[in-house]
Amino acid sequence: MIMKRYRFIFKGLVQGVGFRPFIYSIARKLGLTGFVKNTGEGVLAEFQGDLASEQITQYIISNLPKNAILEKIEVYEIEPVEGEKEFCIIESEKNKISTVLPYDLGMCEDCRREFYDKSHRHYHNVFISCTNCGPRYTIIEILPYDRENTSMKQFKFCNDCEREYFSADNRRFNAQSTTCPVCGPRLFLFSFAEKKHIHGEAIELLDFVSQKIEEGYIVALKGIGGFHLVCDPYNETVVKRLFESKRREGKPLALVARDIEVVKKYCYVNEMEKDIFSSPRCPIILFERKTELFSHVNSSLHTLGIMRAYTPILDYILNKTGRDFLIATSANLSGIPMIIDEIDAIQKLDGTCDYVLYHNRKIVRRCDDSVGFVIKDKFVLTRPGRGFAPLRIKLSLSQTVEENILALGGHEKTTVALKKDDEVIMSQYLGDLDTKEYIDFYMSALSDLLFLYNLEYDYIACDLHKNYFTTSLAEHIATKDEKKIVYVQHHIAHVFSCMLENNLDSCIGFAFDGTGLGLDGNIWGSEGFIIDKSNVKRVFHLKYYPLVGGEKSIKEPVRLAYYFAYEIDKNFAKEYFANSNYLSKIVKAARLLNYPLCSSFGRIFDVVGVLLRCGEKNNFEAQIPMILESIADKTEEGFYNFVMNFEHEIEIDIVYILQQIINDIKRKTDICLISAKFHNTVAKIVVEVAKRLRENYNKDVVVLSGGVFQNRLLLEKTVSMLEKEHFKVYFNSFFPINDGGISAGQVYYTIQLLKNC
Ligand code: ZN
Ligand code: ZN
Ligand code: FE
Repeated sequence: MIMKRYRFIFKGLVQGVGFRPFIYSIARKLGLTGFVKNTGEGVLAEFQGDLASEQITQYIISNLPKNAILEKIEVYEIEPVEGEKEFCIIESEKNKISTVLPYDLGMCEDCRREFYDKSHRHYHNVFISCTNCGPRYTIIEILPYDRENTSMKQFKFCNDCEREYFSADNRRFNAQSTTCPVCGPRLFLFSFAEKKHIHGEAIELLDFVSQKIEEGYIVALKGIGGFHLVCDPYNETVVKRLFESKRREGKPLALVARDIEVVKKYCYVNEMEKDIFSSPRCPIILFERKTELFSHVNSSLHTLGIMRAYTPILDYILNKTGRDFLIATSANLSGIPMIIDEIDAIQKLDGTCDYVLYHNRKIVRRCDDSVGFVIKDKFVLTRPGRGFAPLRIKLSLSQTVEENILALGGHEKTTVALKKDDEVIMSQYLGDLDTKEYIDFYMSALSDLLFLYNLEYDYIACDLHKNYFTTSLAEHIATKDEKKIVYVQHHIAHVFSCMLENNLDSCIGFAFDGTGLGLDGNIWGSEGFIIDKSNVKRVFHLKYYPLVGGEKSIKEPVRLAYYFAYEIDKNFAKEYFANSNYLSKIVKAARLLNYPLCSSFGRIFDVVGVLLRCGEKNNFEAQIPMILESIADKTEEGFYNFVMNFEHEIEIDIVYILQQIINDIKRKTDICLISAKFHNTVAKIVVEVAKRLRENYNKDVVVLSGGVFQNRLLLEKTVSMLEKEHFKVYFNSFFPINDGGISAGQVYYTIQLLKNC
């Protein structure tokens, strides 16, 4: 027998997914000696025995743990070690940091079975987890991911847990988050009415809150990445109360459901939605709903945001209350990020809810539930959070440069991104930076990320907009630490975020968006670009219009709608708008006030929405455009005419389209048809402009990005119509298509700039 020894280096998502135990069990099965350990690069194993390396590789690849993502295996033959008797797991190397942080995983089916199995040791273990599930990112204090580096370290194993943790044939072998009622975290229940804690065993407390939820109370529940507010969605009174205290603006509330079968009763569910719903990432998926049920929960929109009950506690309460759904919405009061700490919860949620149910496992970093939707066989992530964060993408050799980069993002739905070596890493959703509390969250997440990844960087990227907090922060850091600063135009960043995830360095890029500062000092938001590496040429936009109402028009687009209507047909405007006297004063003042020039498509969706009586104010972001999308008749195929003007760039005057819409309104055309025709027209604009650009620039790759493309009807139409014309079409799926993707786009633009200078 010839003894051989191989060193295997595994790269990818191989920490926090039960990879070392898996390697251990394989080595034992194959009768190999050696060791396995986590390293800064991933996982390193040495195998010694009489097998060929191909056989070992084959065995590993065909039996991978379900949450592992293997990107690369390196194999080296090395000198055998004499007298080695066994295979073991070696403690992690200190001071070396893997860039792969494991994400939080929802309860797996095995754990769920054990949780409800009376005869099992883990029966009713409300913190049940294993190598395939449980919290990760939100409990890690430092890397590598080992128990003593997490907030589980305070819970010393009992004998049984220790046995499981060290038994190679156990599902909890080396599972860092495993615990049980004997040795694990405790549950505590606080009652606001009684102003004191209510004592009891974990399950007694869960039974108690389940009862209270059934009776119409609201319970704050500490979960994986923060607190949820939980209540009964079938009880309209309690939902109303929740809206009044938490979501004054009426933003839809998220639901949890036990399984996909329940969701199917009320929503359309395709195969991909089913898979993602049941996957361990457990995001909130925006499903197209079938029935009017829960219109008091989602402000009558056409979608319902539903996630799987991903913790044992949520699952138990759902079962106990016998409901198909519960509301489980982040406990983030207006202007304040989601609460993650029980002291905060008890201080701040009095009046908002009736009970606080919490545990004593610390949430190390805040992570909201992720949100996304499925379109064209892609999951479009619109809020990166639990189960997805930190987002990580490998750069191909042709994409990368030597310098490291930090990018600070925009102002709304902010994220932070960095480029280290050959990877881009992006943080979870950090919110809108309008309040001190969100700025504090942003700052702590920024230093957290720099600390975790130990980033030394040369370049700092930010937006052009001088009034953004992130821009002044970048300027401050650049001066203080002598970094080179790169300003990246907002819509260029949008397109580059999509190019990054698709490994593109040249395209026709469209960013249809709310508002962002343009390179000419005007407000942009309907841009078309020709992009070749770092060369960006603006080739299309809507003809500038005055942003009547300025910043206010975002919340109250009725002014802008009135302005357009008045310009087009004074009598119509006066008749159609109830408060036209007041509005005409505003519009007259507008002439004197010199409002900024704007080309945003987002604002135009607002205007059309107002004209079609979808509302006059956006109580939450994009409320009117969402209603406009909801009412559209999907079978309508008509368009409005438009004229392309070719002076410097291609320009389209939106007034001509609005004129036709007003004519349709005067003719009393069904608003569902008008809305659909408007959507079709916007898609057609993209196609016609792209066709012209293809002729002029010989490019057929089209990238779609920007917040407006969160409109699924528009996105689907645009993609289909482009594909019909044989364009190769890309839109964001991995990095958010909205401003959450700006930081990633800033990174990639900076990379291209460095490569080509
Ligand atoms: Zn599990
Ligand atoms: Zn235990
Ligand atoms: Fe944007």
